[in-house]
Amino acid sequence: MSTKRDYYEVLGVDRKATEKELKNAFRSKARKFHPDKNPDDPEAEKKFKEVQEAYAILSNPDERQNYDRFGHNRPGGSPFGAGGFQGVNISVEDLFGGGFESIFSSLFGGRGGRTRSTRGADLLVSHSITFEQAFLGTEEEIEIDILNHCENCSGSGSETSDGIRECPTCEGRGRITRIERIGPFHQQLTQDCRACNGEGRIIQNPCNKCRGEGRSKQTKKVKFSVPPGIVSGTRLRMAGQGEASKFQNGEPGNLFIEIEVEQHEWFERDGSDLLMALPVNYADLVIGSNIEIPHLDGSSLKIKIPAGSSPGETITVVGRGMPAIRSRNGRGSVMVLLKLAMPKKVSRATKKQLADLRENLDSGNSDITQDISDEARNRRRS
Ligand SMILES: [Zn+2]
Ligand SMILES: [Zn+2]
Repeated sequence: MSTKRDYYEVLGVDRKATEKELKNAFRSKARKFHPDKNPDDPEAEKKFKEVQEAYAILSNPDERQNYDRFGHNRPGGSPFGAGGFQGVNISVEDLFGGGFESIFSSLFGGRGGRTRSTRGADLLVSHSITFEQAFLGTEEEIEIDILNHCENCSGSGSETSDGIRECPTCEGRGRITRIERIGPFHQQLTQDCRACNGEGRIIQNPCNKCRGEGRSKQTKKVKFSVPPGIVSGTRLRMAGQGEASKFQNGEPGNLFIEIEVEQHEWFERDGSDLLMALPVNYADLVIGSNIEIPHLDGSSLKIKIPAGSSPGETITVVGRGMPAIRSRNGRGSVMVLLKLAMPKKVSRATKKQLADLRENLDSGNSDITQDISDEARNRRRS
């Protein structure tokens, strides 16, 4: 669906590119496509924005990690919000100096105080269910391998409870604030403390099991219910069931479960309607017929073909389709397309009967051209 170009491709760098390589690539591309250098060139403007977006994501370690994992299709939607990336105003001078990084780094994690997210990462897993389960709804349980708080140190990362001390560099705040000049402005910048990686504490005796990380890969069972009528591709959000935070008091991320509905043997879905084709023979169409087939809801589906039906007509069985996902008790319809099935083999006796039948079915017109023009008139009218 997405025709968005790969961010690394946009910047023309390798997937393993360092921060510096990214910066250089961005600087040169941004200079090339800058609107001041390409006045009234919408193509260059588009490129300029594309390069900015790629750099915004790849220059942010968290966003880059998310992008590497999910591509453009990340679980929580666009990191720039519903409207997508809006572009930032960078002057050509900014591109020579070093002012532009902070413009980008302020795009994420809120305005002003730049509160850094301490939440764990979101996870996306896919899970497939049968068409019948999508119809009825289902309770599911899956097992996932996930970074959870280490059981050995209860997430502290320290082997002993007294082995943690406050980081002297940031005095336990995890962040350091300084004033920097950006173009003509002074801006207060807050950065993660490098001495403690933003944790505000230093572990003197790291936990043997998680090596001080506070987290370890664990297998976790997740139970969830799938509502009746679910559409393939729906993502169920399990709040707080994602990865544990790197920070001891940080909240865990969310788990998204993308439900994939397997195909039914004969039904296609159109919203809450179910579509199917029903092969019938000529006699069924001429004199009408009642056909019963097993159905998803447990009671048989009765299809009444009225006498004089034509192939290609649709019969609607109201109220027997999929449950409508947003209403408590509505159901869609089953739409049955009549298809004329031709017999593969015809016995000699049947051929004789058909020949007699042909005589009887004659329209009464003596002229074949009359039949043809009647048909054409009917077709044009409809
Ligand atoms: Zn541990
Ligand atoms: Zn620190």
